[in-house]
Amino acid sequence: MNGACKVLIVDDCEEDRAVYCRYLKSQNPSSEDYEIDSTESAETALALCETNAYDVVLLDYDLPELSGLEFLAWSQTQNLSSVAIIMLSAFGNESLAVQALKKGAQDYLVKQSLTPEILFHSIRSSLEQVRLKQKLQQSQERQQLISNIALRIRDSLNLSQVLDTTVLEIRKLLKCDRVLVFQSLASESQIVAESMTHTVQSASSSDSAQDCLLPHEEGEGKFLRVVDDVSDLLSSPSSALLIDWGVKSVLQAPILVDSKIGESATCWGYLVLHQGKDAVPWSLVDQEMLQELCIHLAIAIQQSELLTQTQCALLKEQELNLFKSKIVATVSHEYRTPITSILASASTLERHHDKLDSSQNRRLLNMISQQARHLRELVDDMLVVNQVELGQIQFRPFPLHLEQFFSRLIEEYDVVSQENHRMTLKIEGETEPFVGDFGLFKQIFGNLLSNAIKYSPEGGDILLLIQGDVEEVKITLRDPGIGIPSAELSHMFESFTRGSNVDTITGTGLGLSIAKACVDLHRGKIDIQSHVNEFTEVSVTFPRSC
Ligand code: ATP
Ligand code: MG
Repeated sequence: MNGACKVLIVDDCEEDRAVYCRYLKSQNPSSEDYEIDSTESAETALALCETNAYDVVLLDYDLPELSGLEFLAWSQTQNLSSVAIIMLSAFGNESLAVQALKKGAQDYLVKQSLTPEILFHSIRSSLEQVRLKQKLQQSQERQQLISNIALRIRDSLNLSQVLDTTVLEIRKLLKCDRVLVFQSLASESQIVAESMTHTVQSASSSDSAQDCLLPHEEGEGKFLRVVDDVSDLLSSPSSALLIDWGVKSVLQAPILVDSKIGESATCWGYLVLHQGKDAVPWSLVDQEMLQELCIHLAIAIQQSELLTQTQCALLKEQELNLFKSKIVATVSHEYRTPITSILASASTLERHHDKLDSSQNRRLLNMISQQARHLRELVDDMLVVNQVELGQIQFRPFPLHLEQFFSRLIEEYDVVSQENHRMTLKIEGETEPFVGDFGLFKQIFGNLLSNAIKYSPEGGDILLLIQGDVEEVKITLRDPGIGIPSAELSHMFESFTRGSNVDTITGTGLGLSIAKACVDLHRGKIDIQSHVNEFTEVSVTFPRSC
């Protein structure tokens, strides 16, 4: 207790009052100082209690105007819960004692057997009871506040709303100038929600502000500001950033989220409280409340992340279903024509081979094998694209000699191309050493080169340019063909997408999506530029080490 213990003696018997006073002034074991007021009248006592903050009231049970029990009943209505009331009566009466304790007295003493020791002991234990009762009450109130806020925080499953509610509610509850939530990402930390009073400036505007305590609109929101060093915002208000913001006092708690079963929790980010110039020191209770709120926030974050993951999985599932339906549609459409012509050629051969001359027979056999090859390519493409969709495609990088690789590729496709195509390989800068996946490279550049040939039906120059520098290797393929309408360019890497100008040129719309997936595995970039009936240029850039 700070200072002397203030005692009010309420007894109509002057002798008794004098005895209590003497006892209290006698040597007491806890060497507590007592400041004593006394009165014979209950009414005066009531008035004194209203104007003085007593620690203890020694209350006679038998008062002329008001019984001790009535006094207790009144005290309950007057918010005197911080006062320890000790009831004294002339005779020991068990039922009276029970009634007094039920009505809020901390102790019941019998005057005849009272000694200084008994009185001191009773005062000490009554004060302790009151202290504990108050602590319990405060903790219950705090729990109530926390659960109210927790309800509001967890009311939404939208992470952004959860964070905004958190900063606003905590700022109101703990009466501070600014509350920030920031998320620790792999390489940086980012403020993801902020709420502040008008006395501090927004974290987002601090760079430009001159005065650290500019009058600002009270507000909250997301300022998505990247913080280079988390420690700048935490603990020490002496950091340049906090001095700049006018922060005098900081309180923080980590937001710990569960990792996988069996692993310890990981730190998602921090909840940080800032106090401006009129900083009141944070209490232990504030710290405890913040920690409890962080637990609720962590639960809300995990719930919303779980929801997002489930939604993503659902979306992926829907995409896969759509993809499967597209495959079924493509298979039935694209396979029908080659199969029909294979069947027709086979049946002609079966029935009329003896009537046809050898060149006619060869033409039909050629037709069968050409269509069968086309079907095999379609199946291969479907399998690759299916692997891409399921994320099952493997990436096995090995040293690749680019000049050799592209010379062979051009040779291969020279056979397929029309005679009026001229393919040129040009190399600029340093292209070796280079590491890439041979199989995926064939997918990428096989598709690009076959497009360049296929979509330049009138022939012309096809240029394959390799440019290398220290950082990356860029491979550009340019053809003078039909081009792609500019409005459709951005969709060409999506599976089953074809330009509106392809006319009778066959294709399934899978080549570019396969190429892009393979480029992504190399951590490269693929870009396409085109002008209808002028040119198409696809450039692929690979980092030197993927
Ligand atoms: P396949 O699956 O057999 O490759 P495809 O060639 O139609 O069929 P993609 O390679 O993915 O499919 O190309 C998608 C579309 O992009 C093509 O249908 C075509 O409209 C357009 N395109 C691609 N490359 C070129 C090009 N070099 N010139 C003109 N249009 C092109
Ligand atoms: Mg293609």
